[in-house]
Amino acid sequence: MDNPSWRIEDPIVDKMDKKRRDINIAVASFERQVGGDPFPYASLSTGMDIKKGARSVSRYARDVERDSLNAFDRAVYDDMVKHAQMANSYYSYFVDPNSNMGIGDFLSNFFVRGAYQGFLDSARSENLPHDLFKEEELLRAGFFSKTPDSLTICYGNTPWAKKHQENLLDALNRAREFVGPFYEARGVEKMDYNLQLGPAGGGFSYWIGNTLMAAIDPDRFSFSQGRYDHFLPGLILAHELGHGHQGRESNNLPKGLSPTEEEYCVSFHGACGEGVALALEGEFIEYSLRNSDLSELDKRAMSLFWSTYLPKKVFQIAHNLLEKKEQEEISNPLFPESLSPSAHRRLSEITGIKIFSDLFSMEDQSILDSLQQMNYQIGNKNLQGIVSRFKKDRIPKELRINALLQGVWVNPKAQEDFIFNSYLPRVLNE
Ligand SMILES: [Zn+2]
Repeated sequence: MDNPSWRIEDPIVDKMDKKRRDINIAVASFERQVGGDPFPYASLSTGMDIKKGARSVSRYARDVERDSLNAFDRAVYDDMVKHAQMANSYYSYFVDPNSNMGIGDFLSNFFVRGAYQGFLDSARSENLPHDLFKEEELLRAGFFSKTPDSLTICYGNTPWAKKHQENLLDALNRAREFVGPFYEARGVEKMDYNLQLGPAGGGFSYWIGNTLMAAIDPDRFSFSQGRYDHFLPGLILAHELGHGHQGRESNNLPKGLSPTEEEYCVSFHGACGEGVALALEGEFIEYSLRNSDLSELDKRAMSLFWSTYLPKKVFQIAHNLLEKKEQEEISNPLFPESLSPSAHRRLSEITGIKIFSDLFSMEDQSILDSLQQMNYQIGNKNLQGIVSRFKKDRIPKELRINALLQGVWVNPKAQEDFIFNSYLPRVLNE
């Protein structure tokens, strides 16, 4: 379906949108710098742009009478206020050496109050699906036990390797055919895209908006009975295309809510971007369980892979947060020695699993990488709230996904407000 375009009416809100764009550009640049070229570096000028942008959005915000705005402007306004708050805390926590903001405060400002404790609680044994972990791991091990690793296949030159390469490409195309009808059934406008295998051994799948390319990690194809399975790569493809469609549909909205490819993947947009992609995965599973000719075992595996994907990430997140907290406590000169902290001891207490008390039981992750991991959790929770309201309000299925794809928001309340008070009334009336 064709989705409507949206313009900001209020002149000050419009100015705020332009400033928001400046913040997005600065944050994206800062994250590329610390990501390394090839070594990490950072420009203080870029850092100052983040702060200046946040200040000027907040200053404009004070001149706006929120309650007199129209429904669309109000949602955008609420989103920008949150965005500036995020930028402000981002500057304090990552740039300003004189700030003594701790990880707990930072996450409260960046995501939601209580986020730090929420992440630790979600790693507690009573909050985790231990039976599903068990079933999923055994099933996965079975599926992959006869799967040669992708480096051997993709860089091999023997007839055996070449045969497997062909087989992989065949499964990749079946994944495309598997996903296509779902997006069509949900009324999402068709998109021509390139589909490739990701780098062998890379361990990740991704979407590139500028070249409209989805790349699927070759190690996600399990090999059984002479051919590669396509259901798991299909699920991943449904996710990556979610990013693609969101990027394209967001062109209907003002610039600040429609980040370019370079701005899309920064930590500010991760929660909405991943939240939407995960929600689409959920819809895709629901659709496929009814409409595909997968075997019962494949269906079970696909559902299990999906439902354990996020809970499996909470161990690493809890670890990263505890280590961050430990570093902060150690570097605080007022911290009494007698209370010497131990992140790993705490991790093993929280999870109830002894091996995590070992200092080397987990890899260290940079704080920005770990922020991206948190984005999946936060975003999923945010979007699930919207998805359950769709179900409660009996919103037609063809509108649900389209609604989720409109704009990259940072404030889930503003996104919900936009969907239910601007988008849906307008498309339902047209
Ligand atoms: Zn994603």
